[in-house]
Amino acid sequence: MMENDFLNYRDPLTGVIFILTLVFLASFITYTLSIYKEKVARKEYRKLLKRFELGNLKEEDYIHLYSTYNLPFDSIILLASSFIHKGKYDKAISVYLTLLEHVKEPVKKQELLELLGSAYFKSGMLQRSKDIYLKILKFSPRHKLALKSLLLIYESLKEYHKVEDVLESLEELEEDTYKEKVYLQAQLIINDPFLNYEKKAVELLKQYEKDQQIQRLVVGYLTKYNKTILWENITHFDVLNIIDILWYLDFDDIDWDAVNASKNLKEIYSAKGFIADITQSKSFELQTLISVRNSPIKSDIDLNFEFICTKCKKNHPVYESRCPHCHTPLSFKVEPKLGKPTVSLASLV
Ligand SMILES: [Zn+2]
Repeated sequence: MMENDFLNYRDPLTGVIFILTLVFLASFITYTLSIYKEKVARKEYRKLLKRFELGNLKEEDYIHLYSTYNLPFDSIILLASSFIHKGKYDKAISVYLTLLEHVKEPVKKQELLELLGSAYFKSGMLQRSKDIYLKILKFSPRHKLALKSLLLIYESLKEYHKVEDVLESLEELEEDTYKEKVYLQAQLIINDPFLNYEKKAVELLKQYEKDQQIQRLVVGYLTKYNKTILWENITHFDVLNIIDILWYLDFDDIDWDAVNASKNLKEIYSAKGFIADITQSKSFELQTLISVRNSPIKSDIDLNFEFICTKCKKNHPVYESRCPHCHTPLSFKVEPKLGKPTVSLASLV
């Protein structure tokens, strides 16, 4: 009877307390759960950060940072670019490829493809790089960066006729391609399988008459394959701009009649110590060396060379016909420097 009374008892206050208890319990459980989740997330994040500090982020960590922690796309790209700076191209490529699978927006996809193409190029995977840029051009035929990158790839692959096609496309986009064309013409001659060495030398000289920008290519070619033609035409060249090539020639490879006819050449070879005809030079470096050679005190001072890109102003220890930094062709200018004798690293072409 007693129990029945209790069950039937309906006190409004007990009902309210009961509901409040339920609400409290629900909130308590939700709160505890959220604290637990946050704790787990923090622990994971700390682990991730620690790995990042150690430079050990894995490919999937980038996806994690992007999709779970909502780190902006640009920041993820910046993090991945650290691999490029360290020369770990395979790691960067793998991050870009993984991100490509997760990123939805076309703009971001395109940016990733550009980065991927560049990373493949830097790592020497030219065919893959070419495929990526061709893919970009399929959707954006006016993509200048893709066209310019493709030009460098075709050049590295020695597919010069395709370089010609790319230059035409760039010209349609109103890009200045004059210098590239001059450079291309010289390369077409040097790499023509149907021309013999002598014919190539003649053709190169004809091109040089039209545009002196290819001087270094011509002199480099003649030094390697036809020194007779080089010396026959030496008066046509600006010898101070090819001083490093002339400096490293062997004594027996020098045409001394040609040297005797040129004040600049006499200065260069007096400074080298091959002759003792000259005592004065306007060039500080040559003058110093001439004085040293004429002095009874022995010194092992010599001429070294560095190359400055006239476009990006970067210094390079060896000559390259296309600046590896800004990719401008025929932009290197030789700068003589006094220093200790070194073994020549200068590439002739
Ligand atoms: Zn440059």
